[in-house]
Amino acid sequence: MMIKEPMRVYLDNNSTTPCDPRVVDTMVPYFYQKPGNSASRNHPFGWEAEEGVDYAREQIAALLKVDSKEIIFTSGATESDNLAIKGVFEMYKSKGNHIITVTTEHKAVLDTCDKLTEVGAEITYLKVAEDGLIDLAELEAAIKSTTILVSVMWANNETGVIQPMKEIGDICEKFGVLFMSDATQAVGKMPTYPKEIGVHLMAFTSHKMYGPKGVGALYVSRKSPRVKVTAQMDGGGHERGMRSGTLNVPGIVGFGKAAEIARLEMNADAERLKKLRDRLEHELTSRLEECYINGNVDHRMPHVTNISFKHVEGEGLMMTFNQNIAVSSGSACTSASLEPSYVLVALGLGDDLAHSSIRFSLGRFTTDEEVDFVVDKLVAGVNHMRDLSPIWEMYKEGVDLSNVQWSEH
Ligand SMILES: *Cc1c(COP(=O)(O)O)cnc(C)c1O
Repeated sequence: MMIKEPMRVYLDNNSTTPCDPRVVDTMVPYFYQKPGNSASRNHPFGWEAEEGVDYAREQIAALLKVDSKEIIFTSGATESDNLAIKGVFEMYKSKGNHIITVTTEHKAVLDTCDKLTEVGAEITYLKVAEDGLIDLAELEAAIKSTTILVSVMWANNETGVIQPMKEIGDICEKFGVLFMSDATQAVGKMPTYPKEIGVHLMAFTSHKMYGPKGVGALYVSRKSPRVKVTAQMDGGGHERGMRSGTLNVPGIVGFGKAAEIARLEMNADAERLKKLRDRLEHELTSRLEECYINGNVDHRMPHVTNISFKHVEGEGLMMTFNQNIAVSSGSACTSASLEPSYVLVALGLGDDLAHSSIRFSLGRFTTDEEVDFVVDKLVAGVNHMRDLSPIWEMYKEGVDLSNVQWSEH
């Protein structure tokens, strides 16, 4: 007799994506028959490895419509963000010490900027509106004679909100400042052409676009302007002196294949996932009261939705189904407590709505059947949590919760 396995659904693709099997297939020979170091110039093993790396660089460059010489391989987007921001600061500090970024950036950008204040950087953090978008006038007003870099992420990891990249690029161009973007959530899922936008440095990673973990890249413009970054590690001078260390050849080969697949399939993927995401959103918001979609719904990645279920604690809700469904909640576990997501707080959500949010991020392998399963589980979970909640009961009885005097013990 066949025992049916319980269904397991992965809707946490913004955290990491599974590898596409076609990616794994291209990697396998580089673990066995082609084990060379791409820096070994004096035997065929080295040449084969180098060919694999060169080909991957071309595949990635084609996805971004850039020159392959403009791609620097790293260990992932965290390293690329560090290399871009610290590397620009060190290279250009004689021109100024001011960097502009946004409160809703990834920690890899925020913590890097914060670290640079210890060595004399001045950082301006732009606020976002309730829909998650920055104010272009505020950006323009923040630029001063000492500004050397503007760093704005292409698409947000928690909400999927897409910033007005072309407009930001135009402002940076007008003032002659470098524009860097953490495009980790956008590359391979939507067109990301830095030269058309005026982005001079762009960080991204393989494991968010169906490639392997532990490999990423930084695009660094080589022409108008020719940008240079100071290396953050000393060593053999690989990657045109910007990033030393033996290249992760199998990982890079897989990353290249992932880029090629994305170039050919991302539009069709996006169209299919938008329909699925919209259905998920529609079902949840029509079958449940008091749910709110976070972030601008017209400027958003097609595979992401972030929803707050009022008066339901997200972590608790997840426990009702997390044996079967992987999603992400708007609470971050720090050592001592559960902090509400700083991204959602920056959008103006109160702690309660931030804690009651769930991020659903669909991916290439998400099916219709899985979305139906998730809808049913979510509706049941939210109803269950609300049935147990005295606050929900009071809300249903029409008590104005904002005026309730909670007694202290
Ligand atoms: C995942 C992510 C990163 C970190 O990427 P790694 O390759 O895991 O270091 C950086 N920025 C954004 C926006 C991300 O989503």
